[in-house]
Amino acid sequence: MNLIIFGPPGAGKGTQSKFIVEKYKLFQLSTGEFLRKEIKNKSPLGLKISSVVNEGKLVSDEIVSKLIESIISQKSYKNRIIFDGYPRNLTQAKNLDILLKKYDQKIDLVLKLSVNLETIKKRISGRSICSICGKIYNDYYNPAPKKSNCCSSKFLQKRGDDTLEVAARRFETYERATEPILNFYKNSNLLKLINGERPIDQIYNEISDIIAFIEGWL
Ligand SMILES: [Zn+2]
Repeated sequence: MNLIIFGPPGAGKGTQSKFIVEKYKLFQLSTGEFLRKEIKNKSPLGLKISSVVNEGKLVSDEIVSKLIESIISQKSYKNRIIFDGYPRNLTQAKNLDILLKKYDQKIDLVLKLSVNLETIKKRISGRSICSICGKIYNDYYNPAPKKSNCCSSKFLQKRGDDTLEVAARRFETYERATEPILNFYKNSNLLKLINGERPIDQIYNEISDIIAFIEGWL
């Protein structure tokens, strides 16, 4: 099966993707990562991308599409891809359908991890890191132990308010930009909304059940 996972920054998309990849032996196609790899390898496509990036321009849909095709055309990845960070717009979504069809494949499932902005703010504002041992805590979800030599409040560091503003802006931008794409997949009956407010293992179990159901169906 091929699937796409959507979720605003801070929704836990990375964690869930990692679980799915491991359990179902899928291949995670993160476009950002692949673009960087092509640049590093100085492939013909990589050189083209470098020149665009060096000019301060955005990598075009056409280039991204070439990159995607170079992966979905490989037999070893056939029907085993989890798309992360792609498609980013409706044009890319429609193009992805065409590309997959060319290689006798399709999208079987689209997941959207839904989290509201308040939760994301709590996750960020409650977060602290121990400057001694590097452990990460959260005032709301995973408070630091009251009695500890190392992780006491004087050693806990928090990020500034600016991080919160940036996070709120990124959240809103993400939600606005993905709305038309999600509608597109909703109309194709591929979209499953996952409540991302719950504990990580509960979310994972729900996703696993959905995938198991679809795998059985395929
Ligand atoms: Zn510590």
